Amino acid sequence: MQLYQQQQIKIHNSLTGKKEIFKPINEGHIGMYVCGPTVYSNVHLGNVRTFMSFDMIFRYLKHLGYKVRYVRNITDAGHLENDADTGEDKITKKARLEQIEPMEVVQRYTVDFHNILNTFNFLPPSIEPTATGHIIEQIELIKTIIDNGFAYEVNGSVYFDVHKFNKSHEYGKLSKRKLDDLIHNTRALDGQSDKKNPQDFALWKKAEPQHIMRWPSPWSDGFPGWHLECTAMSTKYLGEQFDIHGGGMDLKFPHHECEIAQNEAAIGKSPVNYWMHANMLELNGQRMSKTTGNTVNPDELLSGNNKFFSKAYAPSVIRFFIAQSSYRSVLDLTDEGLLASEKGFFRLMDAINLLETLKASDKSTIDIQAWKKACYDAMNDDFNSPILIAHLFDAAKYINQVKEGQASVTSEDLKVLAETINTFTFDILGLENVTKKESGTDKLSGAVDLLIKLRQEARANKDFALSDKIRDELAEVGIQLKDGKEGTTFSVN
Ligand code: AMP
Ligand code: ZN
Repeated sequence: MQLYQQQQIKIHNSLTGKKEIFKPINEGHIGMYVCGPTVYSNVHLGNVRTFMSFDMIFRYLKHLGYKVRYVRNITDAGHLENDADTGEDKITKKARLEQIEPMEVVQRYTVDFHNILNTFNFLPPSIEPTATGHIIEQIELIKTIIDNGFAYEVNGSVYFDVHKFNKSHEYGKLSKRKLDDLIHNTRALDGQSDKKNPQDFALWKKAEPQHIMRWPSPWSDGFPGWHLECTAMSTKYLGEQFDIHGGGMDLKFPHHECEIAQNEAAIGKSPVNYWMHANMLELNGQRMSKTTGNTVNPDELLSGNNKFFSKAYAPSVIRFFIAQSSYRSVLDLTDEGLLASEKGFFRLMDAINLLETLKASDKSTIDIQAWKKACYDAMNDDFNSPILIAHLFDAAKYINQVKEGQASVTSEDLKVLAETINTFTFDILGLENVTKKESGTDKLSGAVDLLIKLRQEARANKDFALSDKIRDELAEVGIQLKDGKEGTTFSVN
């Protein structure tokens, strides 16, 4: 018997706006597709948050015994600068600016992406297909959509006919937009576009002479539209209909809306049973985005070398911080938030590291089975990791109580407690057991924390000369102490 036969997962389906009981198409198997990065620049922490949410979901589904085929693509062509099919291809533009080959851009940032994922202890997906590796599949899809009457060719480019599609299907059902409103809210075409209507989107674009990334097709030498690659690759590897499709909230429209339209136009079926959208990461109250420059790269946060944060944070601390809020909530990345998560993370690790020293008793004063069930219930409820973490903190409290003789557990319960806390902390949340000392990023803070402690002692002894000396001399070497409600913290200038 597999664990999934005992657990019932509910998933918030963006298509219906409801939490629904999850039932895979084929019992015991799950097909999951997540839109991957466009590899034209370093990934920022917002991207990492979205992929981390799906990594945790992948880990939990695997833990339950499902055979999960997890496909996460690499967008290495076709993603234009803006959603209205205008502007340059993001990768081509970068190649032009840096005077290198587009494939050098792709290689550089794919390697960067993989390095970041390794640092944060991600599991690799089952398949990581690229848009450029699936041009033939995309051309075949376009032919089918044209044959079915939902696309038209103009001057070597092919566009999806949204107005015609909407007569027999429902365009906008995922993002809850009505075509009439879209028409109302978009500017009329300026005569430069070949599209019949501004809402139509490109399936194939004819390449201008200077456009380097180009492939032959029945319509022109050109390149595929961005939305098409995901339809081609998801259905190729997961079938015409599959279980879960995920991505960041910003992809709901137009990207995922267009994916649904393409699938329905080509195959006559809605591709996905459960659409999942991860919410945005903000940096000090504003959406993190490459375009606006309000970003912090993982490397900068890990090294402490940035203008936003007072210190460096370990990868598991950042992972823990992200898991402390639901994947569906907006999350604001702040120094206070990270400092609080760091404290909590090390408290949890300290408790886990005590487990081996605990002595079992004849009877349990804690209901370990009820606690274990609560951990599963949290994850079954739309992967509610903050509630799970609250239960892990309960377990940390139990461990400390048993250690101090204020509570007792039988050897059987101790085994269940240890197994369960390890499974959820390391296998499902993907954290790594690092102590404060080992985290490496913490050497400076270790030393400064010691000085902060000495300063507190000096103040307690009314030795203000010494306490001021510590503060002033730290300031001279660029370390500012900040006295606040939560105690003293520091920043490095
Ligand atoms: P991109 O490389 O821009 O296509 O983005 C890759 C993934 O990161 C997509 O699923 C986006 O929705 C997601 N993403 C982009 N910005 C953020 C953000 N600030 N917070 C969370 N996810 C984001
Ligand atoms: Zn996609």
